[in-house]
Amino acid sequence: MKRALVLFNQALRWHDNLLLSEHAYFDQLIAVVVLDPAEYLTEQYGIKRASAQRLQAQLKLLLDWQQQWQQKQLVLHLRIGDTTSCLLQLAQQYQAQSLIAAEPTAPEQYQQLKSTGLALRLYDINSLLQHQLRPDLASLPKSFSAFRKQREPELLVQRPLQLKFSGQFYGETKLALDTVSADFISRYHTPTAALLNEAAALERLTKFIWQQRAVLHYKQSRDALDGDWNSSLWCFYLANGSLSPCYAWQQVVDFEQQQMANESTYWIRFELLWREYFRWQMRQHNSAWFSKNAFRPPLDFSAPIPDKRFELWCKGQTGLPLVDANIQMLLHTGWMSNRGRQNVASYLIFELQQDWRLGAAFFEQHLLDYDCASNWCNWAYIAGVGNSGARQFNLIKQALTHDPHGDFVRHWLPEKTTAGALVHWPEAKVQLQDFWLPFLKQLKSKA
Ligand SMILES: Cc1cc2nc3c(=O)[nH]c(=O)nc-3n(C[C@H](O)[C@H](O)[C@H](O)COP(=O)(O)OP(=O)(O)OC[C@H]3O[C@@H](n4cnc5c(N)ncnc54)[C@H](O)[C@@H]3O)c2cc1C
Repeated sequence: MKRALVLFNQALRWHDNLLLSEHAYFDQLIAVVVLDPAEYLTEQYGIKRASAQRLQAQLKLLLDWQQQWQQKQLVLHLRIGDTTSCLLQLAQQYQAQSLIAAEPTAPEQYQQLKSTGLALRLYDINSLLQHQLRPDLASLPKSFSAFRKQREPELLVQRPLQLKFSGQFYGETKLALDTVSADFISRYHTPTAALLNEAAALERLTKFIWQQRAVLHYKQSRDALDGDWNSSLWCFYLANGSLSPCYAWQQVVDFEQQQMANESTYWIRFELLWREYFRWQMRQHNSAWFSKNAFRPPLDFSAPIPDKRFELWCKGQTGLPLVDANIQMLLHTGWMSNRGRQNVASYLIFELQQDWRLGAAFFEQHLLDYDCASNWCNWAYIAGVGNSGARQFNLIKQALTHDPHGDFVRHWLPEKTTAGALVHWPEAKVQLQDFWLPFLKQLKSKA
């Protein structure tokens, strides 16, 4: 009897999921998901890797996935513990020699799978460039522009496959959960946590594209700091694998063909290409991304040393309202807009002179859409390490452009009651930057 484990981490969906299909070589498939506490409860640079909010959302998602299997009278094994050990133990229980999984981008996750010593079959179900479109890492273009120009014309992204669900899945109900995992669940499971599952993903996708037709104004609205329909909010689902990027891409193309194409419908695909670019960049340079200058030699993995200014930034108490309001939003909701992320990152790196990796670790802790490649590569990109030149933003100009009436700041910092744009005025403890001066004058003129 030939058996393989099928690991559903970052593959928590019934649509466009090769892991669910027939695997000719095997007689039986053993479905499993693992939550590794090391990825949530340990620390990096003294910063916890996941907030309670992020851990609880992931736990809820996995429990929901297990329940969906139960409803189909199938067994999905849920394990909480060291990934490699959990997989090996299950492989031993079922006499399985192989492991089928979604190909990860995070070097740590790839290593966990390799360390099992099981025969690996990885399917890159969370990339746009799958199968014959898979890039050669050795000749990957360095810049996003070059990557986009090279790949865009040939990106005939496959229509999501109509796969036959495999009848090979097998499992013993009594092994669905072990006692260690059950104990962990009773300790950390919170019914009120966000449920970021496939049903929520598909609902959001349909509403964003077809019902609200928000895809038609995406290019103009994507820089907003908040708002229900200004950006897609697909990030949660793409990050946890409950939404297929090929499916999302194809839905946009279908909309373009059936309803209307404009620069906004193009732009959302353009942004999905940024995600794609970073995935391949992460795979090319692997853990070198976590060095101080990313993969630029000499590699330096020594832990960054934060000072008091980092602590205040993390609490949203820098005294610069635009930064503090964005951080408060992140702490409360687990999300921040792309524009907000760029602004707070720039401020931390260039004005507060902190190592970019501290900011990346803090985002890893709090973002419910945390994705290793998108997070660490975006931080490196703003810091100007790796492949990029530095990207410093003028925070006062940004405030005037993206929160011209101060509404966003007053919402997240209710103690600030100054009317209009003047609410952006930096507190006395903020060191004013020369290049802010013309924009500070503009703020004053609005008093
Ligand atoms: C410092 C920093 C850290 C970030 N960390 C993450 C992270 O951990 N996880 C994450 O998914 N995104 C991250 N991003 C990228 C981007 O900010 C988010 O993907 C986006 O804000 C999520 O909201 P949305 O789904 O509404 O995006 P939309 O604007 O609707 O974009 C659609 C999709 O395109 C992709 N995308 C958009 N912009 C980017 C980008 N700059 N880089 C990569 N992919 C992009 C995302 O998958 C997103 O869901 C980060 C950006 C910065 C500047």
